[in-house]
Amino acid sequence: MNYDTLSESLTGLHPLRAEVDLEALRQNVGILKRVAGDAELLGVVKANAYGHGDIPIAHELIACGVKRLGVANLMEGIELREAGIEVPVLVLAAPLTHTLSAYARYRLTATVTSLDVCDAIVEEVSRSGPLTVHIKVDTGMTRLGLLPEEVPTALETLRNTAGITVEGMLTHYATVDHDFTLTQTDRFNRVLAGVEDQIPLAHGANSRTLLFTPETVHGNELVRVGGSLFGLIARGITQAAGVDLQQVMRLTSRVVHLRDIEPGTSVSYDRLWTASVPTRIATIAAGYGDGLPRSLANRGEVGIGETRYPIVGQVCMDMFMVEVGREADVHIGDEVVIFGPGGPTAVEVSVAAETIAYDVTSGLTPRVQRVYINERE
Ligand SMILES: *Cc1c(COP(=O)(O)O)cnc(C)c1O
Repeated sequence: MNYDTLSESLTGLHPLRAEVDLEALRQNVGILKRVAGDAELLGVVKANAYGHGDIPIAHELIACGVKRLGVANLMEGIELREAGIEVPVLVLAAPLTHTLSAYARYRLTATVTSLDVCDAIVEEVSRSGPLTVHIKVDTGMTRLGLLPEEVPTALETLRNTAGITVEGMLTHYATVDHDFTLTQTDRFNRVLAGVEDQIPLAHGANSRTLLFTPETVHGNELVRVGGSLFGLIARGITQAAGVDLQQVMRLTSRVVHLRDIEPGTSVSYDRLWTASVPTRIATIAAGYGDGLPRSLANRGEVGIGETRYPIVGQVCMDMFMVEVGREADVHIGDEVVIFGPGGPTAVEVSVAAETIAYDVTSGLTPRVQRVYINERE
């Protein structure tokens, strides 16, 4: 069941909700446009827009003047098309041969990720109709892409095949480490040298390299940004660029139960935490079935009122517990900020959970109701 599809009159019956602030998104887009300078933003809305809801986010990005979108796989691209979104959509995945006709049918831009994919596209295009492609170069990520020395052959083959438009060339960065990022940039620029006039859209930078290593943008026509749109970038990196991105999502639930316990009482599965003093435990309606990392057990914090309280014991599928203490002014029904204003940031939660903020928001399941605030008039 996807709680988003329930009638609006039922909003509020479920305690857990992800508030998505479209004004924060608009501000982030404005900031990123300034940082990107002459390059245009390609808004990456994969994984349900990092958990924020791909269709509403895509509409808002387009309203902000973002002219291109990127997705991780074919189904995400088809979902955008079925929702009536008509802007160019780049599918970043390695296309399997039997799926190429769907790229043509849905006017999705394919990524040429190997010489085999190149051959398959050349063979398919006479059957399926025109295809627009971007050539991906592996400059050091070792995930997808042609090796630099394979690019000239692929480029020539694709350009000489009727029905294929080579619209762009891209690479993907592996790290924020300056030296390795510059090495990858240098490899990409060598591939581009001499063929720039055949490649209308060159692009490499993602959120972190855009902010941290501006050389990754020089001379490129596009930057592909995802996490920065949603304010999921660690402060060290945003500060390096002198920008202040706002976190777009605020995840809240409510206190559903309170219990005073005595020293020696254990809390939750596996008895990972035991009270050492008389204290009070609040039970919160949210768990790993909603996408909360189980690794927050005994590590994370939440905000209730103006105070932070520690998560104690194992995170369950539908609930977790925090120690609020006997003196706290905490009541059943109180709002609990899991991340966002009034609680930790998504980045702080991700550090406690030993992962990254992208994982925290994109991991939220359909059981979390998304509520959009500050919509355009
Ligand atoms: C996810 C992804 C991006 C966006 O990265 P962010 O760090 O979220 O900006 C860009 N390019 C590719 C190939 C990706 O997979």
